[in-house]
Order: sequence, then C-alpha cells, then structure tokens
Amino acid sequence: MNVYFSPDQRLHAPTHEVFGGEMITPFETPDRIDQVLARMETIGPVLAPRDFGLGPLKRIHDPAYVDFLSGCWDEWTAAGFRGEAIATVMPSHRTGRRCPTHIEGKIGYFAFSGESAIMKDTFQAARASANAALSAADAVSTGERAAFALCRPPGHHCMTAQFGGYCYLNNAAIAAQYLRDLGADRVAVLDIDFHHGNGTQDIFYERADVLFCSLHGDPDRAYPFYLGCADETGAGPGEGCNRNYPLPPGTGFGQWAAALGDASRHIETFAPDVLVVSLGVDLYERDPQSFFAIASDDFTEIGRRIGDLGLSTVFVMEGGYAVADLGVNVEKVLTGFGC
Ligand SMILES: [Zn+2]
Repeated sequence: MNVYFSPDQRLHAPTHEVFGGEMITPFETPDRIDQVLARMETIGPVLAPRDFGLGPLKRIHDPAYVDFLSGCWDEWTAAGFRGEAIATVMPSHRTGRRCPTHIEGKIGYFAFSGESAIMKDTFQAARASANAALSAADAVSTGERAAFALCRPPGHHCMTAQFGGYCYLNNAAIAAQYLRDLGADRVAVLDIDFHHGNGTQDIFYERADVLFCSLHGDPDRAYPFYLGCADETGAGPGEGCNRNYPLPPGTGFGQWAAALGDASRHIETFAPDVLVVSLGVDLYERDPQSFFAIASDDFTEIGRRIGDLGLSTVFVMEGGYAVADLGVNVEKVLTGFGC
C-alpha cells in the first residue's frame, strides 16, 4: 500500500499548549511522524504527495476560513504579537454575528477551542497534510485497493470554518469530497480515533451521500465534549447517515469491537463506493488521552475487521500521542487490513 507524506508537514511545530490551566509541551508534535515513518518499510513506498491547489480545500472549507489560515501569521505579527497565535477571544453563538477585522478577534472567530496554535508555516504544513490525503484518495480512485495518508497535522476536529483540536484542515472530509467529485456515488467515513470527529460530523451532517460513523470516548468525559452523542443521527436528507458510538472509561476490545460491528452493518447497508478511515490510534490503553483498555495487539484485529468490509479504503492518519508505540500500532492496523 502506498504511503503519502511530505516533509513540509513537519513545519508546524508549536512549542506549547494550554492544558489544565498549565503551559505544557504539546501532545501533537512532529516526532509523531518519525515513529510512524520508521515502521512503514513493511507497508509500502513512502511517496511525496501531489499539490492539488486550494480548490479541493474550498470544496469543504469556507473560502474566507482558508484565506484566514493563509494570512493569519502575517496579520498576527503585523499587529505586534510575538508569540504563537492562539485564540483567546472566542464568540458564543449569540455574539459571533460578524467576523472581526482585528486578528485577535478574527482568530477567535475561526477557532472552536483554544489549545491549538498557528505559526508561520502552519498553513503550509496543513496544506501538505491535506495533499497527502488527496494523493491517497487519488491512488484508490485509480484502482489501488488501499492507500495510507500519513497526515499531520490531523484533521477530523476541523469544521467548515473553525480550527481546533490540533486540526486546521479536515483531511478526511477533503478526501471524501474529492472522491465524490471524481465520481463515487457514496463515501463512508469510519472514524476510530479516541476522540469524536466533530468536524467531519458537522461537515456532512445534512448529506445523504456521505455516511459518518465514529467510535470514541463518551463526550460527557472526553474532548471535544460538545458533539458525539448517540442521538446525533444526521438531519434533513442526512438523517440516518450519522452514527456515533460513545464508549465509557475502561472499554476493552470486546465492547469496542461490538460497536465496530454495528457500524460495519451500517456501512454495508449504505454500500459505499469507497471507505475513508480516520485512523487515530489514541484509543490505545497507554495513550495519555485515552481511557480505553485497547492493547497494542488489538490493532491487528481492528485492521483485519476493517479489511473484512471488502472496500477500497483510504486511511487518513489522525491522533495518537503514546509516541513510542505510535508507529507499531499504525503498522499493526495496516498489516491487519492486509496491505
Ligand atoms: Zn484523538
């Protein structure tokens, strides 16, 4: 299976993150990539993504948001700020009636949470990450059974016009839309990251052509808190095309696999032309953000069960913060799938 990755994806490297009221070393760091790359020899060649331009990004994201991301750092530094750009002034649904003109207001307007910084090359890194997802989608659309986009920064929290949760462009959603634009009638997105894929859900919530299924830590106890409940099933034409499986602390492989089985039945009924997997491995029991009891060896079986769906599959990397075991766990999913 081809692996897509660009060195530009390392350019985004914030030095701190606000967590629990403290400044900490960010969980989401470039060395995550090195751990995965080190295990790709058994998977396939690591290829440079093609540059798809801004067009596919603007099929998912509000053009004004893409323009904001593109110009944020220049505006931030022109305003006299010297640190990494983070959102501190964020509108509620009652007060956010217009996009402010000052960058300090603008960054809050386009953020849904404040832990994620924007730096000089964040947009370049996020674009490269999206290009990796698009290249993997391209490979599958031209006949490959599967491809792996080693995306970083990740994407599944990013909404149409709001960044957060370390995500600046929604790589999985961009890939899914690209596959639709290439002629796929239906695309399913299976999100197995420990955190709910609130961005992907929100983007496709009213659409009948994209099924979104997410297995994740119960949002009553886990980020992103505001979305991810089982009663969020889609709206309008998309009613029934959104399936959430919030799972409690201590969830082991048996309980998790039962949820995957239910999601798999929905995917089979939906009969998509292509499957996009938001592949976070932070469901791992030793991940600092996880409260599941999923062992490293379980990832092989997870990959096998995804492979059993028998679908053309685009794997898009999302989270995973137990850095030392990250590459091994990704490798297990992909080898279990059968690459
Ligand atoms: Zn995650």
